[in-house]
Amino acid sequence: MLSTMQDVPLTVTRILVHGALVHGRSQVTTWTGEGEPQRRSFHDIGIRAVQLANALRDELGVATGDRVATLMWNNAEHVEAYFAIPSMGAVLHTLNLRLPAEQLTWIVNHAADRVIIVNGTLLPLLAPLLPRLDSVEHLVVVGPGDTSVLDGCRPTVHEYESLIADRAHHYDWPELDERQAAAMCYTSGTTGEPKGVVYSHRSIYLHSMQVNMAESFALTDQDTTLPIVPMFHVNAWGIPHAAFMTGINMLMTDRFLQPAAIAEMIEAERPTHAAAVPTIWQGLLAELAAKPRDVSSVRQVIIGGSACPPSLMRDFEERHGIDVCHAWGMTETSPLGTTAHPPAGVTGEEAWKYRVTQGRFPTSVEARLIGPSGEVMPWDGQSAGELEIRGPWIAGAYFGGAGAEPITPEDKFHDGWLRTGDVGVISSDGYLTLTDRAKDVIKSGGEWISSVELENHLMAHPDVAEAAVIAVPDEKWGERPLATVVLKQGAAADYATLRVFLTERVARWQVPERWTIVTAVPKTSVGKFDKKVIRRQYADGQLD
Ligand code: ADP
Repeated sequence: MLSTMQDVPLTVTRILVHGALVHGRSQVTTWTGEGEPQRRSFHDIGIRAVQLANALRDELGVATGDRVATLMWNNAEHVEAYFAIPSMGAVLHTLNLRLPAEQLTWIVNHAADRVIIVNGTLLPLLAPLLPRLDSVEHLVVVGPGDTSVLDGCRPTVHEYESLIADRAHHYDWPELDERQAAAMCYTSGTTGEPKGVVYSHRSIYLHSMQVNMAESFALTDQDTTLPIVPMFHVNAWGIPHAAFMTGINMLMTDRFLQPAAIAEMIEAERPTHAAAVPTIWQGLLAELAAKPRDVSSVRQVIIGGSACPPSLMRDFEERHGIDVCHAWGMTETSPLGTTAHPPAGVTGEEAWKYRVTQGRFPTSVEARLIGPSGEVMPWDGQSAGELEIRGPWIAGAYFGGAGAEPITPEDKFHDGWLRTGDVGVISSDGYLTLTDRAKDVIKSGGEWISSVELENHLMAHPDVAEAAVIAVPDEKWGERPLATVVLKQGAAADYATLRVFLTERVARWQVPERWTIVTAVPKTSVGKFDKKVIRRQYADGQLD
């Protein structure tokens, strides 16, 4: 029997119209580095998104399914592009501005982007790539920048404000199929070529609803969020879309991502909520210790993207009274996979047991663990396996390139499930604890050592700022851990002290013999520890 319900497509257009109309007074505030920040209401963003859509269609000839890329920081104009492009039936392709030139070029060509909307401050990065960007016909430059670097370039150059000025405040949004492509983002290519993930209108809509739920980020129009997570990678964890659903104000960093600038904008604009990867928060903690600022407005911080050291969470709570919530996800999962709120009624020390896990899956994310022989492992908090998931905002394939079919490489998809490459356990009450990425686990004499566990212990030492542990080849054991450690300023801990510290916390055979003190741990384009680089550096297991 069929239902009697209306079949209304779940689209980004609906989110745009709702946000601009119902939450028209909510604001996007973009930090400008000096003087007053730029303030723009959701209402005005709605109108400007309509004008942008008109310009893209009438002036640049953008049609249904065309890829329109953005190379932009987090700012109001990027929000306009986020809504205008999918609503007109085109596909928003966010480009990760921290990727190496080679990868960026490959990605633009693979996605066959016709237009790039670019912040003027990023032109020096883009200009050298242009001769090899075969598909790009138009550049739209947002804000000031040195346009002389574009002299003689092939694409036609437009200036954003002049392009949208005087355009109609009305657009007949097309009736879209909710399964149609709305946006795309490439993984950062940690293994092999980057892979294109294409989000549908429906997946973005459902994901945004979940982001807003109290069991996830709990966003409401009473609050202001500071998404430091970039809009150029996995849609800033879905926050801009979610904001237009509930009306939460957004404070945008633009290019001001240094810890001092972040501390300053928190003090001045008083956000109540924020989201970023652990390395950003490490930097902010150090900054606040060196130069205290008033960050008391912030109630909750979401940390995800890589394992969050428990010591970092405790520091935030103890020093600044900020509740830190750990979350897990990937480009392929839109990205919300889990959030670690403790169960109802569990508080104090007991709650920490839950808070340091990766958290619970929402209804729409189904999970299973696959053991070493391909068997499904029980949720008993002990049986480890590779995490596989499926659901309406989880990728089922990758973008195959111009005109090609979607691709489903075997190492990434299994029987309708996404293989995450993450290894862990799930407790009987549904809390996921990741012990490692499959490729980071240290296989020592038939036993597995979790690099994340060693790192978390090391980063809890008062002298340690950052620690990354990798597997290096070892004649006797196959692999052994090598620890690279960054000390806090003025700290003097040596290997012997750190080794003793670890021996008190993990089994003796897990304690690394190889240590190196470095000035910085290399980071990926999205600020995670780049173990690929460290592994290359110590490929032969030798320290020098
Ligand atoms: P890529 O670097 O491949 O583009 P993503 O940005 O999609 O990857 O990152 C996804 C990966 O980041 C996950 O598979 C997982 O290994 C790691 N990750 C994300 N959040 C967490 C977390 N809270 N704890 C541990 N690992 C995490």
